[in-house]
Amino acid sequence: MRKKIVAGNWKMNKNLQEGLALAQELDAALKGKQVNCGVVIGTPFIHLASVANAIDTEKIGVAAQNCADKASGAYTGEVSAEMVASTGAKYVILGHSERRAYYHETAGILKEKVLLALENNLTPIFCIGEVLEEREANRHFDVVKSQVTASLFDLSKEDFSRIVLAYEPVWAIGTGKTATAAQAQEMHAFIRNTLSEKYGEEVVENTSILYGGSCNASNAKELFSNPDVDGGLIGGASLGVDKFMPIIEAF
Ligand code: PEP
Repeated sequence: MRKKIVAGNWKMNKNLQEGLALAQELDAALKGKQVNCGVVIGTPFIHLASVANAIDTEKIGVAAQNCADKASGAYTGEVSAEMVASTGAKYVILGHSERRAYYHETAGILKEKVLLALENNLTPIFCIGEVLEEREANRHFDVVKSQVTASLFDLSKEDFSRIVLAYEPVWAIGTGKTATAAQAQEMHAFIRNTLSEKYGEEVVENTSILYGGSCNASNAKELFSNPDVDGGLIGGASLGVDKFMPIIEAF
């Protein structure tokens, strides 16, 4: 049975004190509570170690939002996968559309990042998704397929089985515009099919594919009820426990 996951992506929000307070508030809200999914929070780099030390990381996985495409060395300002892992983080969000668009992260760069993350025992949450013009031109399936194949299809079956995917239609991120449950299911089933052709049904039945894009307390239940939607990657609604908890409880 694949894992259900609700993962927050704080992006570049919350200073250290605010982030720590949010993580601790979530930790307290989850204490003694039986939830039916894994919970992850993706914090800025500088929060990782403090957050991982302050919460029960068995209950809440900590994620970085990026890592370098190089292992170490003279890369001023970069943070390596090894450094991320040394903070106690267990996940790293890679390939987010904001990183692809604003920081020009190509499929080749992302491939390196995925390998380094896996080498350092981090679980990549690998984001894929089309922009509006691509969907309107009916190219969304091709775009998503090529994002997956270009960055992930050189992985061994064993390595691939350690990846979590997040389908995030770019037109739905931070726009308040959500994919319908049917659109999400259609794409998730397509992704699972594509993966299955390469890695076989058994591996892919165990691959979690999250949906991201304006997911909130009102639409989470419907989105998560789809057979191929295994949870959510949540931006805006992960910035407050009052908004994030109901999404976790949608499972
Ligand atoms: C995201 O950035 O991964 C995301 C899904 O953002 P939002 O939930 O704010 O649309």
